[in-house]
Amino acid sequence: MNYPVESGLLKAMKSIDLIKKVEEETRHLFDGVNNNCYVNQKRVLDIFRQHRVSPLHFNPSTGYGYNDLGRETLESMYAQIFGGQDALVRSQIISGTHAIAGCLTALLGNSDLLVCAPGNPYDTLLKVITGPRGLTSRGIEFQVSKPDDAGGINLTDLEMLVESKPRVVLLQRSRGYSLERRSLTMAEIEKAIQAIKAKSPESIVLIDNCYGEFVETTEPGHAGADIIAGSLIKNPGGGLAAGGGYVVGKSDLVEAVADHLVAPGLGKEIGPSLYDLRTVYQGLFMAPHVVGEALKGAILLAGVMDELGFEVEPGAGAIRGDIVQAVRLKSREELERFVNTVQSHSPVDSHVRPEFAPLPGYTDEIIMAAGTFVQGSSIELSCDGPLRPPYTAFFQGGLSYQHCRYVTAALIELITTTTILVTT
Ligand SMILES: *Cc1c(COP(=O)(O)O)cnc(C)c1O
Repeated sequence: MNYPVESGLLKAMKSIDLIKKVEEETRHLFDGVNNNCYVNQKRVLDIFRQHRVSPLHFNPSTGYGYNDLGRETLESMYAQIFGGQDALVRSQIISGTHAIAGCLTALLGNSDLLVCAPGNPYDTLLKVITGPRGLTSRGIEFQVSKPDDAGGINLTDLEMLVESKPRVVLLQRSRGYSLERRSLTMAEIEKAIQAIKAKSPESIVLIDNCYGEFVETTEPGHAGADIIAGSLIKNPGGGLAAGGGYVVGKSDLVEAVADHLVAPGLGKEIGPSLYDLRTVYQGLFMAPHVVGEALKGAILLAGVMDELGFEVEPGAGAIRGDIVQAVRLKSREELERFVNTVQSHSPVDSHVRPEFAPLPGYTDEIIMAAGTFVQGSSIELSCDGPLRPPYTAFFQGGLSYQHCRYVTAALIELITTTTILVTT
């Protein structure tokens, strides 16, 4: 396929003109993002007000961390925001995978069944389940519900698997790094939860909420999920939290996860914040806005890349359940150049050249643009691609829409001036 470069369309057009054209065409989508952003900002702010957050809450605790007011208040706020009774919000939870794996290990026992939908969970979690020391090696049964043709939940298939009364059903909200499936909307999550509960009321519905927080105006707890987990260096950390993970849900389940992650009987009572909690509070306050910036960046990129003849997932105008934007490229070289362009237009390590390399938890080598303030933060503008066809760049995040816009302009320049990218 020829990019329209050769048709002359783009030769005559500066990158900024193309950006403005796409912005004009997607104005209604930006309006939609702004509306959700307002609703979420108001919701989050009201929770700050109800909890009478003051500078006192930012003080760190030490040692065991008993009676840590900042931690306890933050956890109560997270519970409310994500629709649960209780929460764990801890720097001792290192990542999203750590939070989700903690839930699975705490809630599943020998010969219990775990069902995942739609399709396999993301690479790293699949290793947690089926890897050498994974859940299946300890006698846990594992079944995957196939996605439907559009990459969403296949309700008929899921209902059939749920007949076997799984102990846990794990629904992944984001597409992750997959083209086989798309993100789930809250309406779809709610429908799936109702279908699961109708067949098997005792099953625990666990939501991998990564990349989905604040994309819509409700969260999985409001849709009936029993337990939800995610990462603080994605959406809810607002780009400010330096690390950590969260678990929100029914009190008894959160207690079970805390007992597993800390020690039986100690549960939620200990866990010092050690460092200033201000960034976690401030990040939560900023999160609705930051997610809005990232979504606008994703819409712009999708619109521009589509104009340039690339396949994009989701399309600019598609309903979004997460902040991930996939752009399908044609070769390893293209992927490398895209990722390098993102890296060289980052605030941190702009002089560094990313290369393909193995990463723990992943099957294929990965190339990653991560010119981020917080290591590995993917609410900051970042771009990754596994070394496998179809060579696909997964973009996510962006603390500032104007930064996303600048990177998009740089990608347009790359495409219109590099011969390697004009392929047939
Ligand atoms: C990023 C991500 C996670 C969590 O990954 P960590 O890197 O362990 O924080 C979980 N689920 C999905 C779908 C993700 O994309």
